[in-house]
Amino acid sequence: MAKICLCMTANTLGRNLEILEKYRKYADMAELRADCLDPDERLLIRRFPEQAGMPVILTIRRDIDGGHFVGGEGARISLMARGLAYAEADRRRNFAYVDIEEDLNISSLEEAARTFGTRIIRSYHNMKGTDADLPVKIRSMRRSGDEIVKVAVMANSTRDVLELLCAGKECEGQEKILVSMGHFGIYSRILSEQFGSFLSYCGALSEPDAFSAAPGQVEVRELANLYRFRNITKATKVYGVTGYPLKATSSPSFFNTVFELEESNAVYVPFPADSITDLMEISKELNVEGLSVTVPYKEAIIPFLDFQSDEVRVIGACNTLTLTPQGWLGTNTDARGFSDSLLTFLNKPNFKRQRVTVIGAGGAARSVVFELHRLGAKVLILNRTVHKARRLAAPYKFAWGGLDEQGIEKMEKYRDIIIQTTSAGMEGINPDNVSSDPTAMYNFCGREEVMDLVYKPKMTAFLKRASNAGCNVQNGYDMLIRQARYQYTQFTGKEFPEHFFSRVQFGEI
Ligand code: NAP
Repeated sequence: MAKICLCMTANTLGRNLEILEKYRKYADMAELRADCLDPDERLLIRRFPEQAGMPVILTIRRDIDGGHFVGGEGARISLMARGLAYAEADRRRNFAYVDIEEDLNISSLEEAARTFGTRIIRSYHNMKGTDADLPVKIRSMRRSGDEIVKVAVMANSTRDVLELLCAGKECEGQEKILVSMGHFGIYSRILSEQFGSFLSYCGALSEPDAFSAAPGQVEVRELANLYRFRNITKATKVYGVTGYPLKATSSPSFFNTVFELEESNAVYVPFPADSITDLMEISKELNVEGLSVTVPYKEAIIPFLDFQSDEVRVIGACNTLTLTPQGWLGTNTDARGFSDSLLTFLNKPNFKRQRVTVIGAGGAARSVVFELHRLGAKVLILNRTVHKARRLAAPYKFAWGGLDEQGIEKMEKYRDIIIQTTSAGMEGINPDNVSSDPTAMYNFCGREEVMDLVYKPKMTAFLKRASNAGCNVQNGYDMLIRQARYQYTQFTGKEFPEHFFSRVQFGEI
């Protein structure tokens, strides 16, 4: 089973030991990044393994490989030798592993390591990109049978992660460490078993003086607790969420908590993807069984479906993929998540006799409008890009307009309920977006029921204005939870375990 390796990047040995003590239960081994130590501290590394009380890798990373060692090679090699010197018969007092770059040829150092059972990690780093010939590289780097090959390459795209995954599969059976660095490769650090990697390097990233030893590292508690890394085997069912840029997503915390509570052998990971085509290849290689799909792929995913629900066909957007014996089934849980949430908020069985304005005509609006039509509402759709509002309204014979004076005037006749479906007001796009209110020209009379699909922040500028005018308001959090519960049912074929509900939260990673 793959191991959790905590990278020690503090500037003193004492502080590293303090951090190790705090996070000991989450880690199987540690990597002492001696290049991060103050110069005087580097002279004292020899006793660190004994003090650490767990297997330790000695690494002195050069700056060209993403490390902090800027002295000459002579100084680096003598520091490595100092770490391996005076080896003891009790191997727990020696470094368990030493990281030696593939282009470093110092046979005396290697010999000293081998004599006292310190295993060599033969490493290769590419901080700029992913090499084309990875299988050849992985096979050729190992100089003797007991070495572990480490290949850490920067993923600039989803294709790069796919290259590494396939290279790992080609070299199955060989002990190795494979890392796709950077945001695109985050799941290579969680699904180490599936990537054929011996360990995953992670950091105590919530400590003020500990930093990520390489781009894209996962925080140690998150790896151990949220993703239950130690429980992941080849038999673990893999689910995830894909989108771009997918910088922050709440879904892993929701699904992984449910999987843990019900003791399912399943994990849910983020799959940031710049190409949905490459991501679908990765899904096949990793035997992914279910995918949540978010911006901007809810339409682009449709050609990859083997069959789809009626909702997906009519709405033209899919947010849930489930692997079935017949291939990928596409469904849309936003639609039901939305109507359940709004009807509960209004305490109504349907939208009959309700005159509703929908702001926006994007993917989310399409699900909203589909449900409003299904449940009997009369609707006006207003969008910044007017032709999209017209196109969305046409099949339902609904009214439409722009987010301009004329459009806003039309709201007079459609204001029992107002639903904001654009990303205006949402955090994480740009600072100006948070204060943006697409209905700024509209004056609330105070009797409107108002919903915003955005849930971060809890109160958008739009919702604040409606609330100040006396309207009942609701944000999109309840809808998010409801659509995720439907996704759970799609993925697992089971009803959502309601008794766990109060313990499941959408935390952010
Ligand atoms: P999308 O397909 O990209 O559509 C974006 C929509 O927002 C378009 O109508 C766009 O207008 C409009 N828009 C963007 N910025 C605007 C601005 N500054 N002023 C006016 N209009 C603006 O995105 P989506 O999938 O529909 O998602 C939209 C929002 O809904 C996101 O914030 C998403 O997080 C949220 N959402 C929430 C849930 C939930 O469960 N609560 C579910 C799905 C989506 P143009 O056509 O003129 O570009």
